[in-house]
Amino acid sequence: MFDTLSDRLTSVLQNLRGRGRLSEADVDATAREIRIALLEADVALPVVRTFIANVKERAKGAEVSGALNPAQQVVKIVNEELVKILGGETRRLNLAKTPPSVIMLAGLQGSGKTTLAGKLARWLTSQGHTPLLVACDLQRPNAVNQLQVVGERAGVPTYAPEPGNGVGDPVDVARRSIDEAKRAQHDIVIVDTAGRLGVDEEMMRQAADIREAVQPDEVLFVVDAMIGQDAVTTAEAFRDGVGFTGVVLTKLDGDARGGAALSVREVTGQPILFASNGEKLEDFDAFHPDRMASRILGMGDVLTLIEQAEQAFDKDQAEATAAKIGTGELTLEDFLEQMLAVRKMGPIANLLGMLPGAGQMKDQLAQVDDKHLDRLQAIIRGMTPAERDNPKIINASRRARIARGSGVAIREVNDLVNRFYEARKMMQQMAGRFGFPGANRGGS
Ligand code: GDP
Repeated sequence: MFDTLSDRLTSVLQNLRGRGRLSEADVDATAREIRIALLEADVALPVVRTFIANVKERAKGAEVSGALNPAQQVVKIVNEELVKILGGETRRLNLAKTPPSVIMLAGLQGSGKTTLAGKLARWLTSQGHTPLLVACDLQRPNAVNQLQVVGERAGVPTYAPEPGNGVGDPVDVARRSIDEAKRAQHDIVIVDTAGRLGVDEEMMRQAADIREAVQPDEVLFVVDAMIGQDAVTTAEAFRDGVGFTGVVLTKLDGDARGGAALSVREVTGQPILFASNGEKLEDFDAFHPDRMASRILGMGDVLTLIEQAEQAFDKDQAEATAAKIGTGELTLEDFLEQMLAVRKMGPIANLLGMLPGAGQMKDQLAQVDDKHLDRLQAIIRGMTPAERDNPKIINASRRARIARGSGVAIREVNDLVNRFYEARKMMQQMAGRFGFPGANRGGS
C-alpha cells in the first residue's frame, strides 16, 4: 500500500547519509522533499503541514552530538512524527464490564464492513471471546445472507430477522440481538449496519438510531483506504452524522497511495484500531502505529513477523528443530514441516515484505512464487520416510522415481537435495555463531 511513499521517504532520508552536520538549509530541503512525498501520497494538506512543521522544528533543534549522526537523528524524528500522526500508542478495543459488549460497524457500502465483521469475529474468537454477528443491513438484497456466509466461515453464529417477516426494522433487530446474546451467552455483539454508495441522510439517521438504541461500547468507522482523499470527507461526515470511537482501515493491500489512511486519525481525532489487508478472514490485525511507521520508513515490521511465526509454529516442535539444526541432524522431514508452517503464515512475499530493507527488493519480491514451495513440498512428499530421514540414500534410480511420482524433472529433485545439504550446513554454522542448543556437536 505505502510502497511509493515508502520509496520516496527512504531515498530522501538516504540522501542525508554520511553528512557530518546538517545546516538549516539541509533541513529545509529535506522537509520540502518529505512534504512533496506526503502530498503525492494523498496525505491531507493540514496533516502534512503539522507533520512538516514538527519535523523541521525538532530537526533544527536537535543536538548533533550524541549516539546518532545527523541523518539518523532526522530518521528518528520522522519516524516518531509518523507514529504520532498514526495515533501514538496502540489503542485496544474497549469492552463492557458486564457482557455483552456491543461493537457497531458503520461505513459506506463496499468499504468492507461485512468482511470485517467476519474477520473481527474470528479474531475475537481466537482471543477466547464468543461473539454474535448481527445483521442490521436490511436494505441491500443479499446483505443478510452475505453476513451469514462470512459468519459460517468464521465459525460464529449470525442473528438476523426471520426470512418472510418482511424487511424488518434494523433498530429493532439490533435491540433484540442484545437479548439473544444474553440468552445464548455471547460476550460480544458485532452489529453490521447498512451502507450506501455515498453518504446520505437516511443512512446516517438509521445508524444514529441504532447507536442510540444499543449504546455500543465501540462504534467502528470502516473505511476503504483505496478511495483516496474521499476517505477524509467520508470520515468527517460519519463523525458528524453518527459519531464513532475508532477507525478500521481496509484494503491496505491495494496499490493506491494510501495517504488518506494516514490522515484519518489526525483529521477525526479518533484512533485506528484495526487494519485489513486482503479478502481472506485472516488478512486482518490490530493496528500498531509504531509498526506501521517502521514499515513505511523501510525499517521492517519484525514484531508482526515474529507474532505470526509464533502462531504458525508449534513451540515444542520448533525447539526440537532448533536443536537438530545445531547438531546437523536436520532431515527432509523437518524441512517439510518447517515449510508447511511457513506456508501457514501467508504468502511468502508478504512475509519477506516485513523485513527491513524489503522496499529495495520489491522487484525480487514480486517474483517470489509460492508455487515453488508447493513443488518442493510435492517432491519431499514423493520420498519414502527412509529417504527423508537420510537423503544420502537417494541414488539415481530413486531420483528418477521421485521425479516421476511428483511430476517434476529429475533436475528439480537434484536441486532440492543439493540445496538441502547446503542449507543444512549453513544453518549449522549459523547456529554455532548464535549459540543454538547443541551447536557444533558434529554432523555435517
Ligand atoms: P460492505 O459493503 O461494506 O459490507 O463491504 P464487503 O465486506 O461486502 O466488501 C466489499 C468488497 O471488498 C468485497 O469484494 C470484499 O471481498 C472486498 N474486501 C473487503 N476487505 C478487503 C481487504 O482488506 N482487501 C481487499 N483486497 N478486498 C477487501
